[in-house]
Formats: sequence, structure tokens, C-alpha cells
Amino acid sequence: MVKKETMPLLYDHHTHTTGYAALLHSVDLSEVREKDEAVSLIKENCSEDKANVVLGWNNSYYSFGRTEVEELPPVVICNLSFHGFIFNEKAREKVKKISDHADILEKMNDPYWVERNLPAIMKFLVKLEGLDEEKLDAFFDFLSDNGIWRTDDMLLPSESVLDLFENTGYHKRTDFWADIQTYEELSEEGKRKVKGVKLFADGALGPSTAAIKEKYSDGSEGILIYADDEFKEVLEGLKYLDAEKISIHGIGNRATEQIVRVIKKMEKSGAYVPKTRIEHAQFISKSTAEEAKRLGIKLSMQPNFSFDSVHYSDRLPENYVKRNNPFRMLIDDVGFIPGEDLIFGSDGMPYGVKPALESSLFPPYKGQRLALDEFKDGFCLRSKKQGSIELRIREEEVFIEKINI
Ligand SMILES: [Zn+2]
Repeated sequence: MVKKETMPLLYDHHTHTTGYAALLHSVDLSEVREKDEAVSLIKENCSEDKANVVLGWNNSYYSFGRTEVEELPPVVICNLSFHGFIFNEKAREKVKKISDHADILEKMNDPYWVERNLPAIMKFLVKLEGLDEEKLDAFFDFLSDNGIWRTDDMLLPSESVLDLFENTGYHKRTDFWADIQTYEELSEEGKRKVKGVKLFADGALGPSTAAIKEKYSDGSEGILIYADDEFKEVLEGLKYLDAEKISIHGIGNRATEQIVRVIKKMEKSGAYVPKTRIEHAQFISKSTAEEAKRLGIKLSMQPNFSFDSVHYSDRLPENYVKRNNPFRMLIDDVGFIPGEDLIFGSDGMPYGVKPALESSLFPPYKGQRLALDEFKDGFCLRSKKQGSIELRIREEEVFIEKINI
């Protein structure tokens, strides 16, 4: 059966607009499955004159030996999920010259430090490659070509970026979230311009640091960033910063449970409770979801990540693969409403309407499936004023016929 559809452009609710724009010309290994190919791509495209950021390395396909890394140009290679890194001595030499980042690479060897300092790392990578008007133009053209009009950038690098976006007009297509440190440093005006503060409760699936309740296949248990009391203190502290909205990265069920438990405690004690969004929420139980719904917590999820059930089946406990991205449970059993308290994004992995739609309509498991209307409600702009996407769905494939902007 062939189905035709014309729908509004996408509002990608979770991306790293500035991060990807800065890294636009970086070597991207996300489609590379063979190490030889990765090595030659890096050697051909990376300069010897600077520390090059390399993206998208999927460590379930191959890993790099010490000598292999040292033979490459100066590189900082980022794991697909941006939660794991490798770099060589040549890169270290280059980075030493950027004074305020002299020791950051060493620290990036420590997974626990990495999980607690992701915003600092992302800001460091953006700084290594730099951001300017030309890169923004190219990146927003890329977004348009992929059917995306609006984005939430989950990590504002600094206040000057707000000016760059205003001067180029791209502020009309972007909302920013800032980590606590950046938020604290913003002017009053800057604080008003950002949507809210972004925090992390756990790690990610790529480096097996998302906090799940069972062990990963390598015996590790994931990382919960805060103890409950510390987390509550951090959230309460936001009141003094005037942050009304927060978004909290939580992937594993220990993390989603903790976020809801702590917010509930704050509500009970009559404390100030910021408007909360959970980012990813890939593993969330029905009871946690019910409590989240009652507390008015929004879920910001990525249909693309339904395929983590396949990509990371090597490290996840067997009974977890089916429980990833439980959209049917959230919508049918708990009553989350796409576009209201359930919104969708890509996290840039990858960008675009085609992969987003295919992973929504044809995911690995039935419980992950979204209806086309649910997709439109949670992932598209409300109207076609900015443009539209003409598409055709045949069997399990989505064909993008035309993007009108
Ligand atoms: Zn993200």
C-alpha cells in the first residue's frame, strides 16, 4: 500500500545545533563499519596543523590500538554518543597551547569525570573547531534540506553565541538550553533569552554509562551523576538563578526513576519545583511514567534511538532491548500526549525527516511504534507556514518527494 502525505516541517526538540555546526566539516565515522576505512578517512581529511575533532566512532564495530592512534594526525575521536573519547599525543601537544584547556584531554580518559563534565567537553570541542556565520549558514541549509525548520540546542556554548544567532537571524529557528555554569555566567538579558537549564542524571548507552538496574555485558553498572540529596540541592539552587525550566538527561531506568523521585520529594515538601523535561527517557517503567505524568513532567524522546535496541544489543541485558523507547506504553497505558507532554527530537543521530519517520513508523519492536499522526503532533511544527514536506510511504520505506521552504 502506498500512502501519500504532506506535512509541516520538523521541530527537532533535542539537538546540538551549535555543536554540529562547529563540527560540520569534521570527519564523520557514523556510517563507517570498517577500521581501515576509518583510518584512511582520517588520514586524508585531517590537518597536521591543529587538533582535529573526529565524530561518530561506533565502538561496537571496531576499536583503535594505541600505536594506531599515534600514527594518525592530531585527533580527538568522539564516540557516536559523545560520551567516550580517544586522542593522541599530537592532539595533546596542540591542545596544550589553548591555555584554559591544557588538562582537559587527560581528564577525558576518566569515564566518571566525562559523565560529570559533558557540557565542558562539548564546549571544548566547539572551541577546537570554531563557529562562524559561514558554518551556521551551511548547517541551517543542511537542516532545511532535511526537512527541519526549528531546533532546541541543548547546549549553549557561551553568551556570544546568542549574539551570533541574533545577527544572522537564526535565533528565529533556535531555542537554547544552557548548562548551569554557562547559565550562571549569562547576563540578565541572556538568561531571559534561553529556554532553561540542562542537567545530566546519567551517562549513555554507547560507553555503557547510562544508569540501568542490571549490569551491562562487560559487568559495569552505568553511572548516576548525583546522589538524591545532592540532586535535590542542585535543583533547589536553580531557584536562586531564576531558572524556570529545566531539562534533565536521563536514559537508564535508575536515572528516570531518580529524577521523578527527587521532583516528587520537592513537590511534597512544598519546595519550588521548576518545569521539568526528561531528555531521552529510553528506559522508564510504567509506574515511573505515571508519576511523571502526574507531576507534569514532559518527556523529550528520540524515535531514532529505538534502533539502540539493535545497535546496543551487544551490551544491554537481554530483557532490556524490548523495553527501550516504550512509546505504546507511554501513550496507550499512561496517557502521554504527543505534542503536549511527549515531544520528539533526533539528538542529531542522525538528522532529518526520513530516518526520524522510518524509526517511528517501522521500529525494531511493536511497542516502539508511533502512528503518523502521533509523529506529526510530537515532531512537526503546528502549521505549514514555514514550509512543508511531501512524502510517500511504501511498505517499510519512506520516500521524501519534495521539501518546500
Ligand atoms: Zn543530546
